[in-house]
Amino acid sequence: MRRIAATILGFLAVCFVLTAWLNYDRPDISTLLPATVSKTTVNDTQNGLHVTFLGTSTVLLDDGETQLLTDGFFTRPSLLSLLGEISPDRQVVEDALLQYGINETLAAVIPVHSHHDHALDSALVAQLTGATLLGSESSAMLARGEGLDKRQIRVAETKQPYQFGNFSVTLIESGHVPMPNAIAGWIGLGEDIEKPVSPPAKLGDYHQGIAYSVLIEHPEARLLIQGSAGFKTDQFTHFQPDGPVDIVLLGIAGLSKQSDDYRAQYWREMVETIGAITIAPIHWDDFTQPLSADLIALPSLVDDLSATLEDIQAALKPEQSMLYMQPTQRHSIKDLLSPTKQAPTSNTSQ
Ligand SMILES: [Zn+2]
Repeated sequence: MRRIAATILGFLAVCFVLTAWLNYDRPDISTLLPATVSKTTVNDTQNGLHVTFLGTSTVLLDDGETQLLTDGFFTRPSLLSLLGEISPDRQVVEDALLQYGINETLAAVIPVHSHHDHALDSALVAQLTGATLLGSESSAMLARGEGLDKRQIRVAETKQPYQFGNFSVTLIESGHVPMPNAIAGWIGLGEDIEKPVSPPAKLGDYHQGIAYSVLIEHPEARLLIQGSAGFKTDQFTHFQPDGPVDIVLLGIAGLSKQSDDYRAQYWREMVETIGAITIAPIHWDDFTQPLSADLIALPSLVDDLSATLEDIQAALKPEQSMLYMQPTQRHSIKDLLSPTKQAPTSNTSQ
């Protein structure tokens, strides 16, 4: 009897989420945030370090000699397919690599943790480019399951800098945003992947593994990429970057569902303790939709993006600014960090 009730409740919960996902309004992030660099200025041919936001927490860094990529999540399976089995879509991944100029200079692909919306395609990206996959033991299990050459798999030591060209990459153990129990159990929140996973596999096979903050230091800038809106208390107390972080690419998915105290602490840990000046929200998009320049936000009922952005705006100090990175656009770090070059937003009259 209990089992029947649980099945019915589970079914109703799935129906509720599906309905909410498909029907609820989604705020347009580009109207909620000022674009720091307008669409007309980003199509540049400048040398130097460039950053491209490719949805969720997939971020490409490229200094002309070396590329780095977090996650490399391009397949973005649809909501319905998440209920069955999922696999990396080779064609979609190959097209994305071509379209966004990800090539043999890609030195490392770094899954921020091992859930499908981060690590599903990481091993395939490494395979197609020859890059090293640098991540947790769980991400290594996914790579082994996909048959990635073991010489390309590097299980990361935390707080150890890894050098790739002019980039120094340090992974710091962090946390994952809390989730409702039913979902947390389904996606193995806080759990490791114990054996190789060969796709097609269930969503629930992609357990979290270690969640990292990724510190990237380059002669032109210091960046932190925080995939999940989680933290470990005082995670930067015993590990401090050599100087203030210029840009935090701050994962915000699920933040609107957390308490005021939680959000305040997340801000302290990820922004204040490392002296971040520019905060660029990432992982705000609906990761069940294909990657494009016009990514849409998650439905407000699932995650209230407007509330999160208001919260961040209110926490900003005068010297700090929030930055909307147009998805798929290549931004010069020099432009992003130079306020005098900031162009008006594309929705002004200029
Ligand atoms: Zn996750």
